[in-house]
Amino acid sequence: MNNCKYIFVTGGVTSSLGKGIVAASLAKLLQARGFNVTIQKLDPYINIDPGTLNPYEHGECYVTDDGAETDLDLGHYERFLGTPTSQANNVTTGRIYQNVINKERKGDYLGKTVQVVPHITDEIKRNIQLLGKTGNYDIVITEIGGTVGDIESLPFIEAVRQLSWDLGNDCISVHLTLVPYLSASGELKTKPTQHSVKTLLEYGVQPDILVCRTEHTLPKDLKEKIARFCNVDLEAVVEAIDATTIYEVPILMKSEYLDKVVLKKLNLPTKNEPDLEEWNKFLYGLKNPNKKVKIGLIGKYVELKDAYKSISEALIHASSSVLTEVEVVWIHSEQLNENNIAEHLKNLNGVIVAPGFGTRGIDGKLIAIKYVRENNIPFLGICLGMQCAVIEFARNVLKWEDANSIEMNGSTKHPVISIMKDQKNIENYGGTMRLGSYPCEIKEGSLAQKIYSNTQINERHRHRYELNNDFIEKFNKKGLVNSGMYAKENLVEIIELPKHPWFVGVQFHPEYKSNVANPHPLFISFIQAAAKV
Ligand code: GLN
Repeated sequence: MNNCKYIFVTGGVTSSLGKGIVAASLAKLLQARGFNVTIQKLDPYINIDPGTLNPYEHGECYVTDDGAETDLDLGHYERFLGTPTSQANNVTTGRIYQNVINKERKGDYLGKTVQVVPHITDEIKRNIQLLGKTGNYDIVITEIGGTVGDIESLPFIEAVRQLSWDLGNDCISVHLTLVPYLSASGELKTKPTQHSVKTLLEYGVQPDILVCRTEHTLPKDLKEKIARFCNVDLEAVVEAIDATTIYEVPILMKSEYLDKVVLKKLNLPTKNEPDLEEWNKFLYGLKNPNKKVKIGLIGKYVELKDAYKSISEALIHASSSVLTEVEVVWIHSEQLNENNIAEHLKNLNGVIVAPGFGTRGIDGKLIAIKYVRENNIPFLGICLGMQCAVIEFARNVLKWEDANSIEMNGSTKHPVISIMKDQKNIENYGGTMRLGSYPCEIKEGSLAQKIYSNTQINERHRHRYELNNDFIEKFNKKGLVNSGMYAKENLVEIIELPKHPWFVGVQFHPEYKSNVANPHPLFISFIQAAAKV
C-alpha cells in the first residue's frame, strides 16, 4: 500500500463517551481484516505527560515498552490490538509547546514571530504523521482528547482541518456524540448531536461518520434525521449502544458496519470479513465461567477505579482464559487496621496490593500482607505492593521493627527498600524513575519459572526504589526467595515465599502487558491459586 490513511476521532456533547474504546474497537475490526493499524492519543492538557498527574485527575498512568508515561487509553489500544505502543502514540499540548519553544530557542524559526497557527498546528500535524511515516502502518487512528468546543483542544481541531485539506482522500473524520434519552417524554434526542456537528463545522471540519452513543436502539427515522441535519450518509450514522463489557464494543461496531463504512470512505478494499474467532472465544470465556473467586484489590485510590485500570482489565483477561469469574472487592488501604483486617479479608480468595507512591495508606497495606501471609491467602504484590511485602517480612519475620523503604523513612536503620548507590549514574532513562521494559532472569525451580514457563522475561517498570541487596541473605535464610533478577544491575525483580501456597511480589507492572490475545501468566496463575482457596 502506498499511502498511510488517517482516521481522526473527535468527541462531542460530553466527555466520557468512550472515544478510546470506540477507536480501539474500530482498530480491532480493521486489524481483523488484515490491516496494520495503530492508534494515537492527543491530549490537550499542558503537562508534558501524565507521569506527574495525580491518579485522581486522569486515572492510571500507562507505561509503554519504551518507557513513555502515557494516557490510560493507550492501555486500551494495546489490550484490544495486542501490539505495543510507544511515546509517539501519546502527545500532549505540553509536549507540542515544548518542542516548538525548543526550536525557537535554537533559532530554527529564523526570526519569524512564532504563533499558534502555523507553528503549533504544524508541530501537531508533524506528530500526527510520525507513526504513518514509519511505513509500519496502513492506517493510523488519531483520537483527539477533550470535547469539541473546548478552548484547549482548538489547535488540535485546526490541525485536523488543515490535514484533511492536505491529505484529501487519505483521511476521514469520525465524530462520537451522545443521543440522550429523555425518560419523561420517552424520546431519544438528536439536538445535542446537531449542535456538536455545527460546532465542528464552524471550525471547518465536516465529519464523515457519526458514532452515536445511546442507551436505546436508534430507529431508522432518527438516523435519517441525524444524517440530514449533519451532512453525512445514512450508513455513516452508527449506533453505539451501551454494552455490558467494553470487549463487546467491536462486535457491536461490526454489526453496525462501522469498519466497512470506514474502508469505503478511505477507498480501501474491504479484504476479508474480520477474523474475530479469538476475540469471540475470549468473550465466550468471560460469559461462561464455571467458578467464581473474590479478589481484594487494596490501594489508596480505590474511589476512582480508573486508577487501577490495567490491573482490573488484566484480571478480566485472565478470568476468561480459566473460565473463572472474578469479583473485585475494592479495599481502601487507609481503612484497614489490626481490628478490622480479618473482617475485610477473611472471605477473599486472593489479595492484590496495588502500586503507589508516598506514605498514605502504607500501614493498611502492611497489616493486610501480614494477614494473607499468615493465613495462606494467595497474594500478588505489584511494585509498591512488592516493596510492602518486603517491609512486612522484615518487620514481622526478621523482627526489624523500624524496617522501611527510604521513600517513607529516610533515616531507618533497616532501609530494606532503597536506591542503589551504584544504580544512580548508570542509565539515564529521561525521567528520574526506572521506566519501561527491562529483561528479568528467573531462577530455575521457582514458582515464577512455573508461572512463566520461561527463565527469560521482559516486563515494564515505573518506580524509583529497589529491594536493598544488603539484606538479601538474611531474607533468604528466613524463606523469602528472590526468584527474578535484572542481571545487569543485580536488582531484585520478583520475590516469593515457597512455604506459602501462592505469595508473589513483582517490582515491575505485569498488568501493562496483559491483553485479550495474551492474558498475563501471573494473573492466570494467581486466579487459579485463588480458585483453590
Ligand atoms: N513508590 C515506589 C517507587 O517509586 C513504587 C512505585 C510504584 O508502585 N509504581 O519505587
